[in-house]
Amino acid sequence: MEIRDTLSNSLKKVEPREGKRINMFVCGPTVQDKPHMGHGRTYIFFDVLARYLRYKGVRLFYLMNITDIEDHIIDKMNETGRSWEDIVTTYSSEFFDIMRRLKNNSVNYHAFATDYIDEIISQISRLMKNGYAYEITDGVYFRTRKFSDYGKLSKQNLDQLIAGARVEVNDLKEDSLDFALWKKKKTGEPSWPSPWGEGRPGWHIEDTAITELFFGPMYEIHGGAKDLIFPHHESEIAQMEAVSGKKPMVKYWIHTGHLNVDDIKMSKSLKNFVTIEEALKSYWPEAIRIMMLSMHYSAAVNFEEKSVRDAQMTAERVSILWHRVSGSVELKSDRAMEIVKKIFAPLEDDMNTPETMKEIISFVKDSLSKNRMTDEEKGEIKFVLNEIEKVTGIVHITPLPDRSMDIVLGIRDDFRKRGDYESADKIRDSLKEKGIMIEDTAEGSYLWW
Ligand SMILES: [Zn+2]
Repeated sequence: MEIRDTLSNSLKKVEPREGKRINMFVCGPTVQDKPHMGHGRTYIFFDVLARYLRYKGVRLFYLMNITDIEDHIIDKMNETGRSWEDIVTTYSSEFFDIMRRLKNNSVNYHAFATDYIDEIISQISRLMKNGYAYEITDGVYFRTRKFSDYGKLSKQNLDQLIAGARVEVNDLKEDSLDFALWKKKKTGEPSWPSPWGEGRPGWHIEDTAITELFFGPMYEIHGGAKDLIFPHHESEIAQMEAVSGKKPMVKYWIHTGHLNVDDIKMSKSLKNFVTIEEALKSYWPEAIRIMMLSMHYSAAVNFEEKSVRDAQMTAERVSILWHRVSGSVELKSDRAMEIVKKIFAPLEDDMNTPETMKEIISFVKDSLSKNRMTDEEKGEIKFVLNEIEKVTGIVHITPLPDRSMDIVLGIRDDFRKRGDYESADKIRDSLKEKGIMIEDTAEGSYLWW
């Protein structure tokens, strides 16, 4: 399989280093607000990437950090008067809950930044020792100009960066490009002890301290949204490669495109903040996954309510098919394996999920158009849907209806046989009000929800 690497801007074959496992790190959220659809896009994509690599037999360790100390969290404390613990506990548990509901279940470990203060201090101390960091009155800074590769990920050279840098009045830094590794405590801020006094880590150092501990100085995949390329990921490379003297820190940099609302990048400050929690009130998690997978991960995409409505219809069709075959015995035939192969083939080419979705939709359409299915066909379809579910998480697999539902269906059938359609429809409508649909086919009636 090949995937586009941001650093080399080329397609690269995904393979583990020296036959070892593939290590993947994805920037997690700063826990100071509810996750929005932009987060949904990034985390659904990396979930499907992880699921697919494992499906192919790759041993993958998926690590995500949780940024539980950062300027935005301090801002939130100041705005709301809430304590640091309260904000961090509330929004991290909301994040986990939303990810669970979206069926993003492939992360092996979530590392909370403040659990790694020792590792952060160790990394900063080594940067001080080899001349890449210096201390001033308000903190410890990275000496950016000393790292000549700075700018290689975002394709900017140091001169361009210097010209574009914001020069702050009374700035005590040696250079406007230098960024904070450790911020000394201001009144009211949460802080941890360090050789430079009480304070808190800068944002970029969290990630490299965590990945160095788990993966060492070099690993395979680092993912995140495109807006993290600069300065966040650029600074991570500088820190880690300056500490270790080894490069590349990461073999594949994978970035997801922006999700725009009316062509404006989704962000809270622009008031086009659509929370996943809100979306889940009207749409199935599978519909949100289908919508995200219908876009190529790297493209900038405009978010429209219509796309999620269409995705909901697709999710419902997949569900109808699932309920028709779910009672059958799964059959892994050559024919079924061929279908699965065809569905996943586009993923080999830079995770082309839109093509995979097209294949799935046409498979579902063909299967639903069959008036009668043999037990063998049902078993094959069940196998294909289960394989689709393993990689994409888009099959709405709900528990089989309660046995008492068979009685209700039987009574409705009797009404229909007697020509009492009014009573039969009344049963159908009452069930529909409860969110239970009846699907009448040539073979009989099915329930799904
Ligand atoms: Zn990060």
